[in-house]
Amino acid sequence: MKGHVYRKISCLVTNEGVAAKGGVRPVAEDLGLIAQGAVVHSPKEGILWVGPDKNLPKPFRAKAWKHVNCAGLTAYPGLVDCHTHPVFAGDRALEFELRMQGAKYTEIAAAGGGILTSVKATRLASAATLGKLLAHRVKTAYGFGVRLLEAKSGYGLDMASEIRSLEAIRKANKKYGVELVPTCMAAHAVPPERKENRSAYVTEIKEKILPLVAKKKLAEYVDVFCDAGFFSVEESLDILRAAHDLRLSTRVHGEELGLTGIAQKAAEFGAHSVDHLLKVDDAGIRALARHGTVAVLLPGTALYLREPPAPARKLIDEGAVVALASDFNPGTCPTQNLPFIGTLSAIHLGLTTAEIIAGLTWSAARSLRRESRYGTLLPGATSAPIFARGDHPSALFYALAPGALPDPLSSTW
Ligand SMILES: [Zn+2]
Repeated sequence: MKGHVYRKISCLVTNEGVAAKGGVRPVAEDLGLIAQGAVVHSPKEGILWVGPDKNLPKPFRAKAWKHVNCAGLTAYPGLVDCHTHPVFAGDRALEFELRMQGAKYTEIAAAGGGILTSVKATRLASAATLGKLLAHRVKTAYGFGVRLLEAKSGYGLDMASEIRSLEAIRKANKKYGVELVPTCMAAHAVPPERKENRSAYVTEIKEKILPLVAKKKLAEYVDVFCDAGFFSVEESLDILRAAHDLRLSTRVHGEELGLTGIAQKAAEFGAHSVDHLLKVDDAGIRALARHGTVAVLLPGTALYLREPPAPARKLIDEGAVVALASDFNPGTCPTQNLPFIGTLSAIHLGLTTAEIIAGLTWSAARSLRRESRYGTLLPGATSAPIFARGDHPSALFYALAPGALPDPLSSTW
């Protein structure tokens, strides 16, 4: 068998215009919709042909291609979750209960809970356990339509545990139908043993952890949590510069709990994305748009933190490229359901269907510099289409958290 021909697709989203406009201000026409469409996908060569089913070229009608009837389905490019923390042990169910009863996230973190709870459990977990947990999570992401997944370390916070986390990511890469993009986030928090001497930890990240990570080629990105109680703007920029010197690309957790001004500085520095942005100001928004730094919005986290949403409309209107991601993590957003993030983006961020689809696909791939291979259903793209039931582009996220997406290749769907 040469590959699959997905036929009679009720509605097919190619994202042709989204890609042509570089993800800026996507509108409905940019989705490049085809009614009664067909897609030809080869596992080796990716997408070879897309168009109306009636125009399917003769060679793809041959028996060597497996034809799949997709009537009643809408097809999308494989989703891209460009911000996740999938390597951790344990859970934070108790913390969820405390926060829902009124405890503040920053208070819990300052008392040694929050991220540090997950750090304790992750340091105690063996490489085999971490690998098993990650494998399960990657498979879950696959069920939600994710084909490209950014995966951060950051629950180790010491050399050995950070390396172990990144090695788990490397092992899981492309093993379960999902490509993983590894990010070293040793600067996720200051570990408890370094609380009295935080500058020593910043130095350890710059001079020991990142050089070894670069040498072992364990990460493509470095990420820093820049916020009150985590890393200052100066410390964050210091770490980003060290990453850049090691030829690692950069992304930032910024303007989440308070306004620090890091969005503007990270954009000027050349970070590929600034993520969260709940408190970003106009100067930050303009800088993101001007420098083409992708604004990654994480509405699931705002929901869990009961915080007002990020200024999505303003970011888009100013010309920033806006991606949407899960921020899957055990504390502030324990869901991997990326279509549900689309639902939240419609309800809480007020985004249009075109903006949401672009945010979950092309723009997210752009933040990882993978937009030539992910984020469209056009010839040259790597992954096969994903599907939702229905014949309208909002079918993917219209129903609240319906679970895994239909798979027309499985005999039971
Ligand atoms: Zn995060």
